Amino acid sequence: MYKQLTEELELNKVQLVAVSKTQPISKIKAMYDQGQRVFGENRVQELKEKQALLPSDIQWHMIGQLQKNKVKHLFPYITLIHSVDSVSLAKVINQQAVKHDMIVKVLLQVKIALEESKSGFSIDDLESALPELTKFNAIRICGVMGMGTFTSDNDITRHEFADLKKSYKLLKDKYFSDNAYFSELSMGMSGDYKLAIEAGSTMVRIGSLLFS
Ligand SMILES: *Cc1c(COP(=O)(O)O)cnc(C)c1O
Repeated sequence: MYKQLTEELELNKVQLVAVSKTQPISKIKAMYDQGQRVFGENRVQELKEKQALLPSDIQWHMIGQLQKNKVKHLFPYITLIHSVDSVSLAKVINQQAVKHDMIVKVLLQVKIALEESKSGFSIDDLESALPELTKFNAIRICGVMGMGTFTSDNDITRHEFADLKKSYKLLKDKYFSDNAYFSELSMGMSGDYKLAIEAGSTMVRIGSLLFS
């Protein structure tokens, strides 16, 4: 599966975040040996434990909902945080980055799904938060992330991904037009990555399909 999927993604110039949550070290190492370097986890503790046991050139991405009191455990090794969903969380990430004298890359999570359980800014909230978010000098906002509704109805998913793409474009044009870093649209998982690519995703987060 790994080879087939990475070839498909390469053709589309889409980056693969291999979602290794719940996977044992041996399986992650096997994928590393096939060439994968970018892995995503959704729990801080699990990420920290795996990071300590696996090769140091892995780029670790935090993709899950993040509690402020756990942010410090992601430093200094974290490469990208996909799940910034509030100004107060961004502030804590910024403080840690300052403390470690580094700049950390983040994505702003936008709520596109119908499910209440999925977090993220609404696009209106995000626009009003941007003046504050862009004041944090130690975080580099590289784009947006969203999760589609868990559904077999492709029309719903297509609609949500189109909305996210629209939000991305609006932010890019209005706030980041002269900022080359703002370039990532993280959307698409095992069940909907093909639709995400059609809709303009630059980064897919795939777990179960890849490790099955
Ligand atoms: C688990 C998870 C994924 C990957 O889900 P799969 O369906 O296993 O591909 C992607 N994004 C987030 C935020 C996740 O928590």
